[in-house]
Amino acid sequence: MKKVFFLFTTLFLFTCFICNNSIAPKEKVTNSATDSSAKAIIDTATNLPDSIAQPLPAPDSIAASERKYIYLTFDDGPLYGSNNIDKIIRAEKINTDVFVVGMHAMNDPELLSFYQLYQSNPYVEIGNHSYTHANNRYKKYYQNPDGVVEDFMKCESALQIPTRFARQPGRNQWRLEGIKKDDIRSGTESADLLYENGFKVFGWDVEWQHYGNGIPTQTVDQLVRTIEQKLDNGKTVKPGHLIILTHDEMFRTKSGSNALQQLIEKLKATGKYRFEHLSKYPA
Ligand SMILES: [Zn+2]
Repeated sequence: MKKVFFLFTTLFLFTCFICNNSIAPKEKVTNSATDSSAKAIIDTATNLPDSIAQPLPAPDSIAASERKYIYLTFDDGPLYGSNNIDKIIRAEKINTDVFVVGMHAMNDPELLSFYQLYQSNPYVEIGNHSYTHANNRYKKYYQNPDGVVEDFMKCESALQIPTRFARQPGRNQWRLEGIKKDDIRSGTESADLLYENGFKVFGWDVEWQHYGNGIPTQTVDQLVRTIEQKLDNGKTVKPGHLIILTHDEMFRTKSGSNALQQLIEKLKATGKYRFEHLSKYPA
């Protein structure tokens, strides 16, 4: 009986050994199949958004020394139009600067929410365009340079503007290291005073003008040609660097927004330009 029990036990153990060995590879196959499909899911998950979010840039055949820089700037926001600018800039992923007006944001909750879009937009750098925009009475405003600086300080603290970049309302005047440039006499003293108070004062090289209803006056193609000519002929304040002035209200309509998107895409398509923040402007 003992012998029979021993034989059964041995046979049982032997069968278990065989079974384990035959099952083990199957489990291994199953595991490795699961591993590779899991890896495939992870790879797809990590690769797809990347390839959608960051398409490969066009080959940059231009030497760094010959590269030209465009600074796209928007004045007078937040206004109706700022929300469209925010959307286009996020989609196009280009560096831009906005010069904002304090009272526009502080007097209207919806416009304040547009300002908050700018604040959260990683492609937007915020500069100061005064609190009151001179109430559009420029000559009187600039007769009081101390008042102008106070107005900029009020805007800075109301909107928590993180830079000391300024553009004076209605004036193309520059105060940067090595650059002092004025369109007219009125406003020069306040420009000096802003600079003394640590502001970099930026004007512009090219303005995209608009009619009273906000519709741009130059077509996109005309503007692109002007930009190319100015840069090619060295007619900008700083050779190789061009600042464009536009106004938020120009982009409140569908046609205005489309024109902005076309401008950006046509400039990109030349392969000659890089959009930069004013903080990178070499002065
Ligand atoms: Zn303005």
